[in-house]
Amino acid sequence: MTDSWIFFVFVFLFGAAVGSFLNVCIYRLPRERSIVFPPSACPECGSRIAPRDNIPILGYLLLGGRCRSCKVRISWQYPAVEALNGLLTLFLFMKFQLSPTFFVLFLFCSALVVVTFIDLEHQIIPDSISLSGIVVGFAVSVLFPLLGWRDSLIGIGWRDSLIGIVAGGGSLLVVAYGYQLLTKKEGMGGGDIKLLAMMGAFLGWQSIPFIIFSSSLIGSVVGVTLIMTRKKDSQIPIPFGPFLAFGALLFVFFGRQLIIWYLGLGGALRG
Ligand SMILES: [Zn+2]
Repeated sequence: MTDSWIFFVFVFLFGAAVGSFLNVCIYRLPRERSIVFPPSACPECGSRIAPRDNIPILGYLLLGGRCRSCKVRISWQYPAVEALNGLLTLFLFMKFQLSPTFFVLFLFCSALVVVTFIDLEHQIIPDSISLSGIVVGFAVSVLFPLLGWRDSLIGIGWRDSLIGIVAGGGSLLVVAYGYQLLTKKEGMGGGDIKLLAMMGAFLGWQSIPFIIFSSSLIGSVVGVTLIMTRKKDSQIPIPFGPFLAFGALLFVFFGRQLIIWYLGLGGALRG
């Protein structure tokens, strides 16, 4: 039954519908407004968004990307977040089926989507996500130790989670302190430190070297590209949170394969 395509469509739509709620979080959390009340409204004219227009992705397309009342343009980010979360949910389901691991990682990935889009726009990572994420991630490891990550490097217990929090937060703290000593500028924000601690809480300390390595690699490629293509006087900071999130997703989906490939590469070079 779980192999039928209808089930895949349903899982995608479930993720997209949650993505709709994530849009609300992305808009309201940095503005310190309640995420449950009032119901969604057009930011321009304030008219309530009717349930039929609130259907994930489709609602946006049917409206032609404009508010039904005042016709102001609605950001493409809304359907993009819904589609992204739908896809992530679908991939998690394909990898972990309907297991406890699926639900835990679904929560984790949804939090990463919110963090990414808030950090891109506001250059902050809300404590309400990172700090509560640390608590939730650790609690999960205590309540459901060794979730049995199919096809993954880790099945984490509470020790892995606890060491993950310290290793994740601690390593970035050292990097941030070193950067500040060398350049006399503040580079890494406290938000990144708490975010990596949260990743350690959910994924265990085993994930930390991988996430740091992959996010710095991708971050420097994107950073150098942006610096080369952008105007010289541009001082817009490039947030690091989205790269950390990308590294964590890579670890969730391909961590085991990539680490084995990387170690094998070293073996092949030596042998
Ligand atoms: Zn409007």
